Amino acid sequence: LDLKNSDLKKLGDLGQGNGGSVEKVEHVPTGTIMAKKIVLIDAKPSVRKQILRELDIMHECNSEYIISCYGSFLADPNICMCIEFMDKGSFDGIYKNVGPLPAEVVGTVALSVLEGLTYLYDVHRIIHRDIKPSNILFNSAGQIKLCDFGVSGELINSVANTFVGTSVYMSPERIQGADYSVKSDVWSLGISLIELALGAFPFSDPPDDDDCSDLEDYPGHLQKTPTHRDSFILSTKAAKRASKRKSKITLGPDGGLTTMSIIELMHQIVQEPSPCLPEGKFSKSAEDLVNACLLKNPEERQTPKDLLTSPWIKEIRESDFDIRAFASMV
Ligand code: ADP
Ligand code: MG
Repeated sequence: LDLKNSDLKKLGDLGQGNGGSVEKVEHVPTGTIMAKKIVLIDAKPSVRKQILRELDIMHECNSEYIISCYGSFLADPNICMCIEFMDKGSFDGIYKNVGPLPAEVVGTVALSVLEGLTYLYDVHRIIHRDIKPSNILFNSAGQIKLCDFGVSGELINSVANTFVGTSVYMSPERIQGADYSVKSDVWSLGISLIELALGAFPFSDPPDDDDCSDLEDYPGHLQKTPTHRDSFILSTKAAKRASKRKSKITLGPDGGLTTMSIIELMHQIVQEPSPCLPEGKFSKSAEDLVNACLLKNPEERQTPKDLLTSPWIKEIRESDFDIRAFASMV
């Protein structure tokens, strides 16, 4: 498909991220509805190269768990990628609309992401590198697909490492400077699953007794700001507690976290016990899977392929839960 801007009619805005924006468009000659991702290209050759590599990868991907790509083109100073439109949007938007998601939905997300990651790695040797709810998309057919391997590479430890931004979904080993492995994506999946189950980002000012079962009392103390999805604001309560602990957390104007607090959050990811699913709502097999994703030592953490054989995933596969019925409700 030879795509060009003059053939694309904008139908609306789908969202904005760090690197650019996403629009809903119609490809007029064919009547196809698409999502157009517009990325401002940095002049740096390394960035250009990486973007081009990303596009190549997307063209070669063919899996029901991976977003398909219609084509990409350069529209200076932007690069435009036309990808499959997912009419239910991303899972961050879904939980913000409906609150904490039911266990069966969280399980189906786990299954789909593990399948997607296994496909990417087994077939293309790709590590996703940016697993988070906003990169997990949903449609009314009940399909769940991964998008935005914006910082992925075809090889482990590729040069892409050098410009992977700081992300709150980052694994402890990544924060400590180790190379990316497919297991780093597994950590990010664990954090994302808890976020969907809580209806809030799981890291917060830690409870004093360090008991992760107290986490339930602290959901949402760190909340995404609408404009910068990967930056966080701290609730007044959490901030007060932090200042009592004489922590280095400081609040900027509007309660935004300063760089020092990001470092504090990173410290928390590395030092504090891993978060866990809210108590009572999930089966033991679900808790086991999430805890397995959030093992701090990447040596002990399983690969996506291994985790596909875990009891919870088996249960989800065998269950008659109707994800399409859920899709019609959100
Ligand atoms: P981020 O992933 O950090 O939120 P992006 O620029 O990648 O930033 O995406 C912005 C938003 O656009 C996403 O949160 C998602 O809700 C929406 N979006 C992205 N791709 C699609 C798509 N193919 N179909 C529908 N919505 C999409
Ligand atoms: Mg994205």
